[in-house]
This record gives sequence, structure tokens and C-alpha cells, in this order.
Amino acid sequence: MISLAIVVPCFNEQEVLADTCEKLTGLLSSLSNDGVISKDSYIMFVDDGSSDDTWKFINRYASENENVQGLKLAANVGHQNALLAGLMTVKDEIDAAISIDADLQDDISVIKDMILKYEGGCDIVYGVRSSRKTDSFFKRFTAQGFYNLMKHMGAKSVYNHADFRLMSARSLDGLAQFKERNLFLRGIVPTIGFKTDCVYYERKERTAGKSKYPFGKMLAFALDGITSFSIKPMSYIMGTGVLMIILAIAFAIYALHSYVTGNVVSGWTSIVLSLWFIGGLVLFSIGVVGQYIGKIYLEVKERPRYIIESRIGNGE
Ligand code: UDP
Ligand code: MG
Repeated sequence: MISLAIVVPCFNEQEVLADTCEKLTGLLSSLSNDGVISKDSYIMFVDDGSSDDTWKFINRYASENENVQGLKLAANVGHQNALLAGLMTVKDEIDAAISIDADLQDDISVIKDMILKYEGGCDIVYGVRSSRKTDSFFKRFTAQGFYNLMKHMGAKSVYNHADFRLMSARSLDGLAQFKERNLFLRGIVPTIGFKTDCVYYERKERTAGKSKYPFGKMLAFALDGITSFSIKPMSYIMGTGVLMIILAIAFAIYALHSYVTGNVVSGWTSIVLSLWFIGGLVLFSIGVVGQYIGKIYLEVKERPRYIIESRIGNGE
């Protein structure tokens, strides 16, 4: 029998927490009654610096239920880092940990299958969405584009998998060795190795509260994903540069020809257009290079990825 921790990052989730806690504790007790997991398995709610009553609620649930624990981070560090904080806290206490979002859009009924696959020898089991029916057209479209781009850029990622997954203690030890600050778990976890598998489910709509991933954040997340795992954008810049030089040579021949034939003034439009075009291209290229330099800057500082303020529940 395995001991399991379910890690749930929560940022201003007071509206959904009661329901989430009830469902997860229900699942935990039915799994332990069935003899799938041990009695000391627990849920770890990670409060990612919420400004609402999230921590108060977590405190209450932890005092009412011995299988509920809480971890309070000192500040909001974002979904990925909050999740990491939870996973790193539980990893030495359990055999496997499952991460899931607080809004339970992911189907908790496949958790049992995840555990069975773990027992069958898998160290990492990915929860994969079989369709995106419940997403808005916009989210579906942008998400699809994101996965395609990631794949094209050569970053490993599991298609239609978010952060709903089971990880064994030893794969978490592997994850602990990744020291980067620009954390993109979906890209890192597939590079850990071990035997992996997937379980499939339909994703539901958020029952309450708002999405914490508005478009701006999603875009930043996608950019982070690409620039953290691939240096292809840099080679594209070089390729474009070479292409521009070839074009410039062709243009020079054309310009010289016009000069010889006495047609000089009429070239104004093309010059102005190419000025803008090249200016834009140069700025864009500097921007891409800047992205990487910025990353290096962030990494060399080696700042902590999260700071734990307190922990409640059985563990402490
Ligand atoms: N989250 C977090 N810190 C943040 C933003 C979000 O811990 O700064 C958590 C949030 O509470 C939820 C999960 O990350 O459990 C995913 O967020 P959300 O459901 O809003 O994203 P979506 O499903 O819309 O992509
Ligand atoms: Mg959600």
C-alpha cells in the first residue's frame, strides 16, 4: 500500500476550496478503505500568498480533518513555484505525490488509475485531457498553438497535459536536482526520465472563482516555456540575418542598375519600406536575444524560488 500526498496550489481560491476539500478528502478515504493507499496519506494545500481568506479556510480544514495539511508561502510566487514548494515539502514523507489545481477542473476519478499505473512500475503518470470541449474557443486556439510551437521549437512536452500528474518519490528527488528559477514543470518533468504513462480524462469547467491565467499571464508562460527549453529562436534570428544579407545584395544590384540607367528618385518608397522592415527586424532580434540574457541574469542570481512561512496539519 502506498502513502500518497495530493498537492494543491491555491491562490485566492476561497470560493472553490470547501468543495475541493470535501471531494478530495472523500476520495482519499474511499481509496484508503479500498486498500489502495495507506491511512497516513494526505492532502497538502499550498497557499501561494493569497490575499483572501484561503489560508483561514485551509486552517479550518486541517483542524477538522487529520488528512488535510497546509503550507503557507510568504509571498505569491506563481503556480509553478507554489507547486514545487508543495512537492518538495512532501517528497520525503510519501511514496508518490499527485499535483492538481484547486478548481478541480481535472477529473479526480482517474487518480485511482494513476496509482495503479504507479504500482505497475511507472514513476510518472501524466493526466492528459482527451478533449478541450469545455474551454472557450480562444483558450483552445491559443493552447493548441502553444503546444504546436513548443513541439516545433524542440522542447519536450506531453500534449494536452497540464500539471495534473503523479510523481514517485524518486522522480521528485530527480526534480529536486533541477535548480533553475524559470520553472516550467511541464517541460522539465519529461526530461527526468523513468518509465512514464498517461491517463485520459475530460476537463471540466471551473465551478467557482475566476481563472488565474488571463491572456497576458498565458502569453508570458508560453514565452517562458519556449525560451527555457529551446535556443531555436536565436538560430532563426541568424537565419533571418543571412536571408536579409542575400536580399540586400540583390537590392544593391537593382539599385546600381537603376543608378546607371538614370532612374534614381523613384526608389524612395522601397527604401523607406525596407528601412522600417529592417529596423523592426533588428529590434525584434535584439528582443529575442534579450529574453535569453534576461533569463541568464535571473538564473545567476540564484534567488530562492519560494519561501515557506508556516506549515500546519499532522506533519508539524
Ligand atoms: N495558482 C497559484 N498561484 C498563482 C496563480 C494560480 O498557485 O499565482 C493556482 C490556482 O490557485 C489554481 C492553479 O494555480 O489551483 C491553476 O490556476 P487556474 O485554475 O486559475 O488556471 P487555468 O485552469 O485557468 O489555466
Ligand atoms: Mg483552472
